[in-house]
Amino acid sequence: MEKKQFQAESKRLLDLMINSIYSQKEVFLRELISNSSDAIDKIYYKTLTDDALSFNRDDYYIKVSADKENRTLSISDSGIGMTKEELEENLGTIARSGSLAFKSETEMEEDFDIIGQFGVGFYAAFMVADTVTVLSKAFGSEEAYKWESEGAEGYTIQPTEKADIGTEITLKIKEDTEEETYSDFLEEFRLQEIIKKYSDFIRYPIKMDVTKSKPKEDNEEEYVDYVEEETINSMVPIWRKNKSELTDEDYENFYQEKHYGFDKPLKHIHTSVDGTIRYHAILYIPATMPFDYYSKEYEKGLELYSNGVLIMNKCADLLPDYFSFVKGMVDSEDLSLNISREMLQHDRQLKMIEKNITRKIKTELQNLLKNDRDKYVQFYDVFGRQLKYGVYSDFGQHKNVLQDLLMFYSSTEEKLVSLDEYVSRMPEEQKYIYYATGESNERIAKLPQTEIVADKGYEILYFTEDVDEFAIRMLMNYKEKEFKNVSSGDLGLESEEEKKEAEKEASDNKELFDKMKEILSDKVKEVKASKRLRSHPVCFSTEGEVSIEMEKVMQQMPD
Ligand code: ADP
Ligand code: MG
Repeated sequence: MEKKQFQAESKRLLDLMINSIYSQKEVFLRELISNSSDAIDKIYYKTLTDDALSFNRDDYYIKVSADKENRTLSISDSGIGMTKEELEENLGTIARSGSLAFKSETEMEEDFDIIGQFGVGFYAAFMVADTVTVLSKAFGSEEAYKWESEGAEGYTIQPTEKADIGTEITLKIKEDTEEETYSDFLEEFRLQEIIKKYSDFIRYPIKMDVTKSKPKEDNEEEYVDYVEEETINSMVPIWRKNKSELTDEDYENFYQEKHYGFDKPLKHIHTSVDGTIRYHAILYIPATMPFDYYSKEYEKGLELYSNGVLIMNKCADLLPDYFSFVKGMVDSEDLSLNISREMLQHDRQLKMIEKNITRKIKTELQNLLKNDRDKYVQFYDVFGRQLKYGVYSDFGQHKNVLQDLLMFYSSTEEKLVSLDEYVSRMPEEQKYIYYATGESNERIAKLPQTEIVADKGYEILYFTEDVDEFAIRMLMNYKEKEFKNVSSGDLGLESEEEKKEAEKEASDNKELFDKMKEILSDKVKEVKASKRLRSHPVCFSTEGEVSIEMEKVMQQMPD
């Protein structure tokens, strides 16, 4: 029997793999099961393209069995199997085709995508096993082969006997050490848990012999143990089901099952896209703020599945920061993720999905505003601030997505209104969208600066949060209407005649104004006559870009 060395690069990758790529050891099972599922897919495809063959679903399955005494775990499938050459090629080298020149380590870091080209999922087995044995009989072949390896040292291949087409992988599970427990991977309940967690939606049954107990026939008080083969995975993922088959309750159950939150979600979005990129997604808007939302611990992201297999718990790249409260999952067939499923970040496909999802969330929120305003207001009370920060951050890059979702309290409607609603109510001669800032709606309503605007019958938006005015300044305008703080110098309300009158009054009373300015010299820049006041004798106004309130906020900011 000849012993072969892994190719040099394989050796290095194997080290990398075992030591750093996967953050949790339990994912080895997900990798092996997904390979089995792929192998069944391949044989299924053969039957589709060959009339002489037929595919009987019941014949295709994956079986997981543990033997505690011998510390072995085996995963067998009735998939397409591997020939001797395929065993060598697929399991003996990591960079299978050899067409990929191995890049220097520094280069690799810059262009991490390269790692996505290597198939190394199989090697995850070495995270938990000392020895890995693969028995395989390829479809259309009479011979079976045994591949065996103890890790980086190399592998052996020899002929063997195997009755059925398919592959059986046996792991000799490592002994426990002081730091690590490996025995759990031989426990029925633990294996079931891992299968449910990562592979629930694999389309073929994943079977296990499960120990059960039942009352004895002659004595109901006593129980006997017996073993029954069970399918552990549910096989049909909810996101692949038709929306019409599903109830609100189904979606709520899924939300809870997945621990997306403890609340009952405010809204779910179920979407399937079948275009240049294909994916299914179920997204949720929580009803309450996640308890750690504004803490450092909070991580945004969606669960990411590749063809039914969970590959990442929180894929941050799928959500923009301003929608960081959204929970849910995405399943795509088109992801080019292999090895560094947990690390790969800058995938082009992911970016496309993110863009689509963002647009979808926006549309759904807009629909909610239109069709179920109460619910939208409920949402806005919890997450509106986040949207406003979203407008403000990144120099207003996202304003197009967000501006239609903003709401502010209106002086005339006495409730939250959207900018679109405001603009659609503007009388023709009204030039600006007016707003006033202050601590509370009550206090703003009493501001002398609001009088002239209100007198004209114009609506005023009340800004009570620090972020409000900053966000609006980023927008600059909405539907070509500029925003105007009611306390800014020129409100565009005075006619030329009124301005002249004011000027005349100022020159008539020049002495009085000069005296006032002298007394207030370090507090104001100018004292002017104005036509804007109604019941109040005097008010402050500002010149230039920064309002009094913004100045206050900025003074509080740390340098
Ligand atoms: P990937 O699945 O990303 O290609 P893996 O390291 O997981 O990489 O597997 C390497 C290759 O080994 C697979 O592409 C497949 O050709 C082969 N292989 C692994 N497991 C099986 C199996 N159970 N049945 C048939 N072929 C398999
Ligand atoms: Mg794989």
